[in-house]
Formats: sequence, structure tokens, C-alpha cells
Amino acid sequence: MTVSPVSPTIPLDAKGAHHGFLRLPHSRDDSAWGSVMIPISVISGGQGPTALLTGGNHGDEYEGPIALQDLASTLDPAMINGRVIILPMMNLPAFAVGRRCSPIDGGNMNRCFPGRPDGTVTQKIAHFIATELVPMADIVLDYHSGGRTLDFLPFAAAHILPDKGQEAKCVAAMKAFDAPYSMQMLEIDNVGMFDTEVESQGKVFVTTELGGGGTSTAASVAVARKGARNLLIHAGILEGAPETAGSVMLDMPDARCFVFSEHPGLLEPMVDLGATVEEGQPIARLWPADRSGAPPRQLCARLSGLLTARHFPGLVAMGDCVGVIAQPRA
Ligand code: CA
Repeated sequence: MTVSPVSPTIPLDAKGAHHGFLRLPHSRDDSAWGSVMIPISVISGGQGPTALLTGGNHGDEYEGPIALQDLASTLDPAMINGRVIILPMMNLPAFAVGRRCSPIDGGNMNRCFPGRPDGTVTQKIAHFIATELVPMADIVLDYHSGGRTLDFLPFAAAHILPDKGQEAKCVAAMKAFDAPYSMQMLEIDNVGMFDTEVESQGKVFVTTELGGGGTSTAASVAVARKGARNLLIHAGILEGAPETAGSVMLDMPDARCFVFSEHPGLLEPMVDLGATVEEGQPIARLWPADRSGAPPRQLCARLSGLLTARHFPGLVAMGDCVGVIAQPRA
């Protein structure tokens, strides 16, 4: 079996606050014996569980990296029971250029788990995280947002799992995060996702979608920051009272949630995020992008609920996800 080429520059099991890198050798034109340096902080106090907190799985999503930079620079080991492992920019090469996928190998980190020790750069990073960091963790939080091409209502999410005991723990952790919305999430295709890997190792897992458009807002960062603290209190790692504002529970019951476009065009939103829509109601129109004087095509909700996500750029390509409808739980 091939050993991971990734080596941490700090101890992962020592008391105190340690800030360093996961160093991955990456030989290339501009640095023959160079490395990819992925920032990692490990803050460890007394006895207790381990939390693994990750951001930058996709390189154009910012709430997680901001909240985790804040946490890494301010968490005091004396305040902690257990250990917090923080990776604010998991796919550092993608993060460095503000793109979803790595510019080195095109790797979408959230589609290449469990990774390979002898694979591409993205696969090697994923493999180290899956085989070295996840096994250390009791609870894992992976921050996402919509990136440059999607925008979301801010929610934390848990998946429906075969192990109902594990699912209940994930739901409890999602509720503890206390985002404005909490989602029982359906994935379009969960193969290769970090989520799937962490859940398959039996861990408590929470993910998020906290905004999008390739930037962040003061409000979305506040949700991310509060959520991390609440989650660490929930896990028994931090002392203190959680800050709870209440969360609206949402479901994605089946594939009718997703509205995909079968045409390219100029996007005219008909409703905005958070709007209530009825089954059959147009959520957007697509005008021709290449001629004038022709009518638009309507894209309609396939079930009733809240507009929870939307395509962000003003132009739509064939096959794009234009909107997501989720249903508030009765
Ligand atoms: Ca994402």
C-alpha cells in the first residue's frame, strides 16, 4: 500500500495551539522540488472529543474560510476540552485562484473522496484528510456556500442515513449550528463527496450552504461564525451557552426539488431566494441570448415550497441548475 506523500509540519496530537501546513510535494516548472502548503491549525486542551472543521473544499466559497481563520487565530487551548483541527482552505490550490476546482489538475475536491495516495494533487489531499484526519474526529463540519455559480438561503444540513442513530446525531448537530434554515438534504450525486466519506466512517457530520455568488456578506459570515461556536459547545469542546435564534426546518423530498435548464439563455429571475412558490409557478424565464424579438422560455417549480437556491450568473447554459425548491417542515 502506498504511503501518503502529505506531511504535517506541526504535531496533530500535542497540547496547545499549533499553526502550520500539510505539505504535499509538487514538482513543477517553477519549483522543481516545490510543495503545496495547505494551512492547518490544531488547538488542543484538556480531555475531550475532536472536531474537524473544514472550509475551502471548493475554492470560491468564503464564509467557511473566514469563520475558520477567525476561530484558528482566537481559540484559546485553555478554554477547550478536547481538540479542534481546522483546515480553512482544504483545496488550497483552488482557493488561491478563487475557483471551485484546482487549477493544477482540475480536481473538484468534493467529488474525489476517498482520494488516492498515488493520484493527482487533489486526490492526494483528499486521501490524507480521509485516512489521517477524519479517523481522529468525533464530529466534522464542512462549510460550503454557492460559489460563483449558485446562491443559497443560509442553511446547515444533514443527510438521510441508513444508520438512524448516526442520522439523529447529525440532525442534532445541524440544529445546534442554528443557521437561519436547517436542511434534510438530498444530493444530486453523492459519490466521491467528503460528506459521504465522513458519514461512511460513522462520524457526526454537518455541512452548510451559506450564501454564494463567489463572495460573502456580513450576515452570511455571522451565521458561519456563530455556527462553529455553537457546534463546539454542542460537542462538549467549548464551555458556554449557545447563541440560538431559531431555525426553519426544510426538506428536499425528491428530485423534483431541482429545476434544470434544457436550454441556454439570458436569466430573468421571477422570484428571489426565500420566496414561496407553488408547483407549476415560473421561477425564472430564459430569454434568447443570441437574437431579439423571440419570446422567453419559462422554467417552473416542480413542487411547492421555498426558493432555496438559484443560479447566480446572468447567463444560463444547457443543463445548469437554475433553482432549488425546498419544503418547510409542517
Ligand atoms: Ca460547495
